[in-house]
Amino acid sequence: MLLADERRELCRIGRRMVETGVVLGAAGNISVRRGDLVAISPAGMRLEQMTPEDPPVIDLTGAVVEGTREPSSETPMHLAIYEETRAPAIVHTHSTHGAVIAATMTELPPIHYYTLLLGGVVRVAEYATYGTPELAVNVRKAMAGGMRAALMANHGGVAIGADLEDAFENALILEWLCGVYVRARSIGEPRALTDEQLRRAAERGLRPKPLPQE
Ligand SMILES: [Zn+2]
Repeated sequence: MLLADERRELCRIGRRMVETGVVLGAAGNISVRRGDLVAISPAGMRLEQMTPEDPPVIDLTGAVVEGTREPSSETPMHLAIYEETRAPAIVHTHSTHGAVIAATMTELPPIHYYTLLLGGVVRVAEYATYGTPELAVNVRKAMAGGMRAALMANHGGVAIGADLEDAFENALILEWLCGVYVRARSIGEPRALTDEQLRRAAERGLRPKPLPQE
């Protein structure tokens, strides 16, 4: 079986995603890249029900190399992110607070310095229908410049990482930051950190985990 370890890891993180509530039902999808191959969660399948045989292995054009199931509908987005970044793993969620920010804002205002863990101020990719090449292009743009996460207008969030565990961790940080902003707005006008304040926090060493070859 190609990418056997990676497919097992997809199952483990898939279960964690459901346990932590960042996805519901068959929403959300995840993938791991090794060289020119990608193991990705199958279309229409609940992540907690995946077994290692389920995720198809595809090449960088999206063609299935091994597996009987159809790759996730968001395969174009995953492939576009792999083209843009050196990330070996991607986690896409429909987490609640991320979806709230993605439905209302054009970026996630940096009200907490933990945004540095995601590479800076998180952008909201312009809306396009789910699963389309247009959405892939918009998300790719929002991820440019070393970002580890982006939101997708009226949809959800996406995160990358040094491995699948790190990508999942970044998805949780994104959801936490969005939750803090939503709650802050409910009691007042949140104060965004200035560029200078973020720069000083970055000087203390807060940055994303390096990707391979970085
Ligand atoms: Zn989605």
